[in-house]
Amino acid sequence: MIELSQNKLKEHFEQDLFTDITATADDLGLECYVVGGYVRDLILERHSDDIDVVVVGSGIEMAKAYGKRLGKGANVSVFKNFGTAQVKFNSIEVEFVGARKESYQRSSRKPIVEDGTLADDQNRRDFTINALAVCLNKERLGELVDPFGGIEDLKKGIIRTPLDPDITFSDDPLRMMRCIRFATQLNFFIEDKTFESIEKSCERIKIISAERIIDELNKIILSPVPSKGFIDLERSGLLEIIFPELVALEGVETRNGRGHKDNFYHTLQVLDNISEKTDNLWLRWAAIMHDIAKPATKRWDKRTGWTFHNHNFIGEKMLPSIFRRLKLPMNEKMKYVQKLVRLHMRPQAIADDEVTDSAVRRLLFEAGDDIDDLMILCEADITSKNLARRQRFLNNFQLVRQKLKDIEEKDRIRNFEPPIDGEEIMAIFNLSPSRVVGSLKSSIKDAILDGVIPNEYEAAYKYLLSKAKKMGLKAVSKEK
Ligand code: ATP
Repeated sequence: MIELSQNKLKEHFEQDLFTDITATADDLGLECYVVGGYVRDLILERHSDDIDVVVVGSGIEMAKAYGKRLGKGANVSVFKNFGTAQVKFNSIEVEFVGARKESYQRSSRKPIVEDGTLADDQNRRDFTINALAVCLNKERLGELVDPFGGIEDLKKGIIRTPLDPDITFSDDPLRMMRCIRFATQLNFFIEDKTFESIEKSCERIKIISAERIIDELNKIILSPVPSKGFIDLERSGLLEIIFPELVALEGVETRNGRGHKDNFYHTLQVLDNISEKTDNLWLRWAAIMHDIAKPATKRWDKRTGWTFHNHNFIGEKMLPSIFRRLKLPMNEKMKYVQKLVRLHMRPQAIADDEVTDSAVRRLLFEAGDDIDDLMILCEADITSKNLARRQRFLNNFQLVRQKLKDIEEKDRIRNFEPPIDGEEIMAIFNLSPSRVVGSLKSSIKDAILDGVIPNEYEAAYKYLLSKAKKMGLKAVSKEK
């Protein structure tokens, strides 16, 4: 946290970037404040690009005058319906809004908006730490306006609403997600009364669009320790509503003294492990999803105990409907998550058996360029508390990694395309598209992956002829 004094803040807002705002506001005789996230992040010494400015008067008038002062290169966009305007200059974005008073009615999520004072504007903010304002007018430059003890909360690491949380959350239920998101990003504690209010109001999240919810959820997932957010989401009742498949992983069943692990907490541990290694949102999503089909595939077997056969394949199949509902992208990002879910047990299976070249080649072929991410996921998946066991698994994976490297160097399988494709097979044997073509094509692929022939054209051609002969086919032309 920065050392707080009006002088220190004044110094910060004397920077070039702000002097033109100060001069514009003073010229127009308008009171003007930097508010919200920028002030919070400045005090916490976090980087922030978005500057929000509240003007007691017209934000649009202020933005236009500021844009004029900056001259060429400044880009002013006015959003009349919202009463806001944005000024872009170089890489900086400043959003201007007139101070407003909002009142909500139970029947609608859209507030009635009227012009207001700075205090009115601070009252409508979601959390005390987001309601801080610093004056930009020259005479009061750097003066902090903190009506709800936001600074104290920043110091103590507490999130709470400025007004009655029941009203705050009921007015705009997205704030419940934001509350947990900020607590996760900042590693803050949610004040008891505020948290209890989320528990009471969680059902109201249903009136919020999936797009807005997923924005917040993704921010939680991209936080340093995302499990914290998921645990709060689960305890508050929100997770059951927005992502019931994840809650279904929770719990341990014991039969004949044999239990299985709690797959919810295991998944969160995998997510935290992976978050230490990567900022890749989709790899983090793969961690969240890797065991998603365990409840659906759980069976009891008298001899072996609990089993979750094929949970990787069923999980892969479950993803499209979950992605669709959550409004996650249904494109190559989803396919990537599906691939990792499908393959997440393969490196382990290879390590358990003898690590054969052929198994490694097949894994390389299927994973392609995502092989490194798959290995990161598999290593994150080791959550055993038994250190010796952990080490044994890690050593096994080390072996798999080495083998992957050796084989890739030797055979270049990663982006491997069999040297003879279906078109060519049809031409060689004068065939029309049919199952025979497909089967010949995959026999070449299998022979290469199993090391029967090298990954070369001539060898593949010879192999193809011998296979075809057995099927009673004769070559009519030799391509190439
Ligand atoms: P981040 O940039 O990390 O999302 P932020 O605090 O800047 O954090 P924004 O969504 O940009 O978040 O919002 C800017 C400010 O607007 C907040 O600090 C808060 O004061 C206010 N605000 C945003 N959304 C709400 C809301 N749903 N209810 C009340 N106030 C809000």
